[in-house]
Amino acid sequence: MKYNNIYVDGILSDITVDNGVITAVEPCPTNTVPDDPAFAIPGFANLHTHSAMTLLRSAGSGLPLFEWLNNAIFPRETKLTPEKVYEGALDACNEMKSTGTTAFNDMYFHIESTIQAAIETGLNANIALSVTDADFGNGNVKNFVDGLEKILKTISNTKITTSIAPHAIYTVSGKNLQYLADFAKEHDMLFHMHLSETQKERMDCIQQFGMPPVKYLEKLKILDKTGSRFIGAHALWLDNDEIQILGEHKANVVHCPNSNLKLGSGFRFLYTELRDAGVNVTLGTDGCASSDNLDMVEAMKTMSLLQKGIRNNPSILPADEVLGVATRNGRKALRLNDNDIKTGNVADFIIIKLNKQIFKNIDIINSTPTQRYTEFLNRLIYAGNGNYVSQTITQ
Ligand SMILES: [Zn+2]
Repeated sequence: MKYNNIYVDGILSDITVDNGVITAVEPCPTNTVPDDPAFAIPGFANLHTHSAMTLLRSAGSGLPLFEWLNNAIFPRETKLTPEKVYEGALDACNEMKSTGTTAFNDMYFHIESTIQAAIETGLNANIALSVTDADFGNGNVKNFVDGLEKILKTISNTKITTSIAPHAIYTVSGKNLQYLADFAKEHDMLFHMHLSETQKERMDCIQQFGMPPVKYLEKLKILDKTGSRFIGAHALWLDNDEIQILGEHKANVVHCPNSNLKLGSGFRFLYTELRDAGVNVTLGTDGCASSDNLDMVEAMKTMSLLQKGIRNNPSILPADEVLGVATRNGRKALRLNDNDIKTGNVADFIIIKLNKQIFKNIDIINSTPTQRYTEFLNRLIYAGNGNYVSQTITQ
C-alpha cells in the first residue's frame, strides 16, 4: 500500500506500508506542491476513557464529581446490559477512530462487549475491568478472578489486552487493592485506577489514613508491585513528595483536562514537575459523560492552554511536545511500540488534508520543513479539532 504526496515532518514524501509495517518513507521525486496536500502524524493514544459512556453523554452536567457519580451516573449504569455496553462502546470506537485515536485505555464493566467493539473497529486497546469492593461480594474474590481469567482465555486478538481497574481508593479497600495489585503482577497486567481526582478525595484520604493518596498507595506497596504498569487517571491533587514517589516507581499518569474542568475538579495539573520527576505523563479524554466527546485534539488544546495559563508562560508545552504526550507517551504506558512515521515502525498514522479553511495560507512554498510542520501542528491543535482528520491508518 502506498500513500503518496504526504508531508511527513514537513517533507513531501511517499509512505509505503507492507503487512502493517512502514517499509519506506521517501521524499517525493518531484517537489511540486500537490493539488490536494496532506500532512501525516502518528495516531493518538487516549489513556483514560470509559467507552460505553457515550450512552450517558453529557449526563448530570453541572454536578460536582461525587454528586454526579451517585445521582447521575451509578443509577443509570445499573441498567446497562452487555448489549447496551456493546452499542455504546462501538459508537465510542468509531468516534475515536474518525478523530484520529488508534489506541485507548478503557475502564468499565461488561468488558467482553467493549473488547468486541474494539476488535471490530481495529483499534489497539487495553480494556480493564472496573472493580469496586461490591464486586468482591462478601469476600468471595475467587469467583471474580475466575471470571476475569475466563475472559482472558477467550481473547486471541493481538491488538487487545485486558487488565484490572480498581475504581479508586474511596471505592476499594486497602486489602482489596493489595489483592488486585498481586493479581496484576502475577498476570503481568496494567493496573489502571482513578487517582487524586478531587481535593475531596485527597482530604478524605488524609483524614482517614493520615496521609495523601499516593503515600497511601506506597504504604500498601501497590506502587512497588505495579511500577511502570501503574496508570493513575487524573493525578490532579499531588504534593511534591507524591510526585517524587510516582517518579521513583516510573508510574504513568493520565491528564484529563476537559473532564477535570467540566466537573470542577481542578485545573492545576503539575505537568512540568511530573515530567521532570520521571513520571510518564499521558493524555486522555475520560468518558463522554464528563468530557462529552472523545476528541484528543481538543484535549491537547485544553492541556496546552491550561499549562500556559497557570504558569503565565506561553512557551510551556509547545505543539510538538503536547503531541508527544498524546501519542508516544500514551503508547509507552500501554507497552506499545512508538508510532513515529519512519521505516520499520508499525503503520499507525492519521492523514489531515490541507484544503480545509483553517490550513489555508500555510506557506508551503517558501517555508522550511520545520516551519511548515510547526505551523500545521499549531493550526491543527489551536484552530482545529479531531473532525479535521480525513483518514486513520492502524494495523
Ligand atoms: Zn474516569
